[in-house]
Amino acid sequence: MLNFELLKKDFMQMQVSQAAFFGLLVAVAAMIITIVVYLCSIKKSRGSLDPENFKEFKLTKRTPISHNTAKFRFALPKSTSILGLPVGQHILCRGKDSEGNEVIRPYTPITLDSDIGYFELVVKMYPKGRMSHHFREMHEGEYLPVKGPKGRLKYKVGQARAFGMIAGGTGITPMFQLTRAILENPKDKTNVHLIYANVTVGDILLKDELDSFATNFPNRFKVYYVLSQPTEVWNGGIGHVSKEMIQMHCPTPAPDIQILRCGPPGMNKAMADHLNALGYTLDMQFEF
Ligand SMILES: Cc1cc2nc3c(=O)[nH]c(=O)nc-3n(C[C@H](O)[C@H](O)[C@H](O)COP(=O)(O)OP(=O)(O)OC[C@H]3O[C@@H](n4cnc5c(N)ncnc54)[C@H](O)[C@@H]3O)c2cc1C
Repeated sequence: MLNFELLKKDFMQMQVSQAAFFGLLVAVAAMIITIVVYLCSIKKSRGSLDPENFKEFKLTKRTPISHNTAKFRFALPKSTSILGLPVGQHILCRGKDSEGNEVIRPYTPITLDSDIGYFELVVKMYPKGRMSHHFREMHEGEYLPVKGPKGRLKYKVGQARAFGMIAGGTGITPMFQLTRAILENPKDKTNVHLIYANVTVGDILLKDELDSFATNFPNRFKVYYVLSQPTEVWNGGIGHVSKEMIQMHCPTPAPDIQILRCGPPGMNKAMADHLNALGYTLDMQFEF
């Protein structure tokens, strides 16, 4: 004979355990959502920049890298902070010129948000440059007012199959930042072809780092150095960057390639003319 009381009890128990199971499921889901939101907010709050206001960063190390160029390392507010600069963007730095007047100039850090607790600038100091004066006079322990991020390019993995990059002098810094981000990301398969122009061999910035990219990623990164005043033994390009050099060392015009350029105004204009003449449409070109 059926024991209805027992069946009823079993049924009730089953309902209770089902309810407990769903309760647990909801609690676990809520916990996961809370953790994800918390992690996202930590990542966001670790960013150190303010796009509207200048914030001060302490210069902790200054390393000369050529007769007129130095690497400046600045501490972020906490040892766990990141700068919070999207790849392809730059910051604005504020200083005083030799007459005490305020000057603001853009600079591209050579570090990425994978570098925790600090950021670095490579700055070339021109004899008559106004912001150059400020950097020349800066000592370790002093503070630099910085605002950002700024810039029109926000790099997304896969936005191009290949980049051609044409840099002159300190125009290397945005190219270096982008190349590092591409090569350090195992999911990023973009190829990079860099033409880097300078006056003398001593002016080439970040050469060791660029050469080690070329050695470590021979199928993904190529660099071609061009000098207007080379030493006697020099196996790179000579003179100014020409149409032929671009044809030889940059990806040919195609909808899935982009040519980036950054250099002094005269060079940028000359490169734009070369690129137009070679059939690179405007949407294949970008000037930092
Ligand atoms: C997006 C962006 C990112 C940049 N990132 C960097 C960076 O990481 N590192 C860096 O060092 N610079 C960088 N620059 C250049 C920087 O912003 C300044 O223009 C540079 O430091 C000169 O500023 P200044 O006030 O000292 O010279 P200014 O007072 O503006 O110029 C005075 C004189 O300096 C000389 N001069 C200035 N600029 C150049 C030049 N490019 N080529 C040749 N002679 C010049 C000229 O003789 C000029 O008449 C970047 C520029 C841009 C647009």
